[in-house]
Amino acid sequence: MAQSDLDLFRVTLLGTGAPPPVINRFGPSTLVEAGREKFIFDAGRGAMQRLHQLGIPFADITGLFLTHHHSDHVVGFVDLWLTGWIGRPWGMRKTPLRVWGPDGTKQMMEHLPKAFHVDIRVRSRNYPPEGVKLEADGVNEGMVYDRNGVRVTAFEVDHGGEDLPAFGYRINYHGHSAVLSGDTTFNENLIRHATGADLLVHEVTAATGAAAESKEQLKRIGSNHTTPDQAGIVFSRTRPKLAIYNHLLLFGSAKADDLIPMTRKSYAGPLEVGEDLMRVDIGDEVVARRFGSPE
Ligand SMILES: [Zn+2]
Repeated sequence: MAQSDLDLFRVTLLGTGAPPPVINRFGPSTLVEAGREKFIFDAGRGAMQRLHQLGIPFADITGLFLTHHHSDHVVGFVDLWLTGWIGRPWGMRKTPLRVWGPDGTKQMMEHLPKAFHVDIRVRSRNYPPEGVKLEADGVNEGMVYDRNGVRVTAFEVDHGGEDLPAFGYRINYHGHSAVLSGDTTFNENLIRHATGADLLVHEVTAATGAAAESKEQLKRIGSNHTTPDQAGIVFSRTRPKLAIYNHLLLFGSAKADDLIPMTRKSYAGPLEVGEDLMRVDIGDEVVARRFGSPE
């Protein structure tokens, strides 16, 4: 592997959406490439298409992390796993897939092969059976992965309390780091783990107009997600070289274009609103580029 490949530390937003089945933002999913490792964090709707747009076969993915089990973060998993096993340029997987996630992940990964046993039986005649195997582990707060200079640390966040275990992840590589908030309301543990990170990819929710007037709605959103105002406080305290919003949850008449002005009340630093396939190269500089734009 060339030195330039080993220097690679890139975060690509595969999907920046949420449950609404819109065409311009696929479900939450993030690709992290660090040297010889490639990880996918969450598997929202359309992750397989986005990965294929990048020209990366699923065979190249080292493993997959789940932040929590809300379906919008998981419904793309079966597509990645099974389409990624097919022996065509987008797939070609020949080795078991490692999956990490909160409580319930092992059970899910035990049940999925049962649900798809007919397809697996039939296609195993043509494709290597090892390539469809799943090896799952539950995560707790702390180090989850440490290999080839890549260290992945899980930390607890608050996505609606104890009922729904939820994690953010910090990825360290070559003296740099990226943090993915997962889904969370304003949370001190996230601030602790994100402090000093080069890149902070953060979820966001905003409501304006009629939706902003529904107290019930605001209460529910506020206990599970982070408003731009709160996110600004998180960014001001953690001081990333770049903060990017993903997983946009917009209610009422709120628009993506509103998010930066809404955040400026509490944060004046570098901030982008993520879009699908936006990529960020992390080094001495941290630069976000849209899909198709030159290096
Ligand atoms: Zn969620």
